[in-house]
Amino acid sequence: MSDLRITEIFLSLQGEANTVGRPTIFVRLTGCPLRCQYCDSEYAFSGGTMMSLDDITQQVQDLGVAHVTVTGGEPLAQPNAIGLMQRLVDSGLSVSLETSGALSVEKVPAPVVKVLDLKTPGSNESHRNLWTNLQYLTPQDQIKFVLCGRGDYDWARMRCDEHDLYTRVEDVLFSPSHHELAPRDLADWIVADRLPVRMQMQMHKLLWGDVPGR
Ligand code: SF4
Repeated sequence: MSDLRITEIFLSLQGEANTVGRPTIFVRLTGCPLRCQYCDSEYAFSGGTMMSLDDITQQVQDLGVAHVTVTGGEPLAQPNAIGLMQRLVDSGLSVSLETSGALSVEKVPAPVVKVLDLKTPGSNESHRNLWTNLQYLTPQDQIKFVLCGRGDYDWARMRCDEHDLYTRVEDVLFSPSHHELAPRDLADWIVADRLPVRMQMQMHKLLWGDVPGR
């Protein structure tokens, strides 16, 4: 069976990463083995609807937009996510994957842009980081840190230096955890340190708040 459990498929604007602002279709897969303390997708932990690859692909194509993001939950927790991404690529779509960094990205199809989280201590899930994933990243990919405070910021800087992250991927993204780190503080730190990162806010939250499906 090549079915997948899906929480939602919807059209919105990309709220994060370096394609921010583009009309994008989101395919949100159900389930996640992590429990980040700041998670805003808890409604995707369970439930959902079983759908075939054919039906998912058709629904995506019907929405009529060239960009699609496979997200979760943790999409890679369902092995058939790999087949879905391949099918979307074969359909001529530009595909990105949002993943927690806790599961292997080795088999993700090469054209898919990987946006890989590295979980900070403030998430309470940093022990889940699968550091061997770094070897599968390519220059089109992005690494994202969600930062809960100054300790996370310093930790992320050290990991960037230690693993030479700035040269491995197109962008290293620093994002303030909503309600935990003041965006202006993060901006000031990045500027003061002249860090070669891209700071990002979650644009969809600024526009629509914490509303599922936006
Ligand atoms: S990996 Fe993502 S979906 Fe899973 S608990 Fe963390 S923030 Fe939530």
